[in-house]
Amino acid sequence: MKKVLSGIQPSGQLTLGNYIGALQNFVKLQHTEVCFFMIVDLHAISVPQDPANLREQTEAVAALFIAAGIDPSKATVFVQSHVREHAELGWLFTTLANMGELERMTQFKDKSSGKESVGAGLFVYPTLMAADILLYNADLVPVGDDQKQHLELTRDLAHRFNTRFGSYFTVPEPYIPKVGARIMSLDDASKKMSKSNPNPGSFIALLDPPDVIRKKISRATTDSGREVKYDPANKPEISNLMGIYSHCANISIPEIEARYEGQGYGPFKKDLAEHVVSVLEPLQNKYHDIRNSGEIHNILKQGAERATAVASRTLADAKDLMGFLRPR
Ligand code: ATP
Ligand code: MG
Repeated sequence: MKKVLSGIQPSGQLTLGNYIGALQNFVKLQHTEVCFFMIVDLHAISVPQDPANLREQTEAVAALFIAAGIDPSKATVFVQSHVREHAELGWLFTTLANMGELERMTQFKDKSSGKESVGAGLFVYPTLMAADILLYNADLVPVGDDQKQHLELTRDLAHRFNTRFGSYFTVPEPYIPKVGARIMSLDDASKKMSKSNPNPGSFIALLDPPDVIRKKISRATTDSGREVKYDPANKPEISNLMGIYSHCANISIPEIEARYEGQGYGPFKKDLAEHVVSVLEPLQNKYHDIRNSGEIHNILKQGAERATAVASRTLADAKDLMGFLRPR
């Protein structure tokens, strides 16, 4: 069995991009591997968060994990800040990283571009992410394509630690879906769909009511042609919607092309909306049941205990290897 770790930020409402790029693989991997899935609140505060929103979103993301099919008796589900070792190993790894390699991170460039003042937390985000993964000696990290570069840095930092202080950390591999690894924004297919985008029309939230989903899809930007043809270079908008269709209806891209030959975008978008609704409606019903039951707090408490047991051992070993004096 492999060890798996991944996280999602409570930085907004989870989107279809998070679901297709990451969450669906969490659900799949829990059946065969040893899994740790966390709500990464310490990462979310790398950009300013309203405290009441942060608390609500943290609980909402945890409930969505369960509603999407994560079974807390199979996978360990926890909140990052409940396991203090993340922040501590994060600092140790910050001291191993170089300014130059952090400056090259495209997420940092994207999220800081055009801002008058940029938080230092946004800059060192990848070193905390490395600590998250290495604390559990994860072999596999299920993520969307946008996290590939951070994972590459995690691998470099693990190698660096192992070379300087003795071979200890597992060097993890990314686990990225073949289709849907980068779902694009509905209003601009040159940008990835993101839950922190201030325009709600740019994403489909997992908790959007059916009518909102229909409206967002009907308003999604498309080119002026009418052919439902998969061509990401020349028709990025319709190709993006076809990727979503393929995932939600569980049919291949060529089958979609055949189904809508000569019909134009209208019927395609209408059917797409219904497929998305039929995937999200059951998930939304489960979500409301879980929120109403209050059981999420127990799940998170048990998850934090299980995670701490592993993380505290790793942190103690890493500190020994680095030469920290043990308290006696
Ligand atoms: P934020 O805008 O706050 O960064 P986000 O939507 O990028 O939010 P994250 O919490 O940063 O979400 O990422 C959670 C997981 O979802 C990661 O594995 C990430 O790679 C994946 N992911 C995020 N956006 C997409 C997308 N558009 N397509 C596929 N996967 C995605
Ligand atoms: Mg992100």
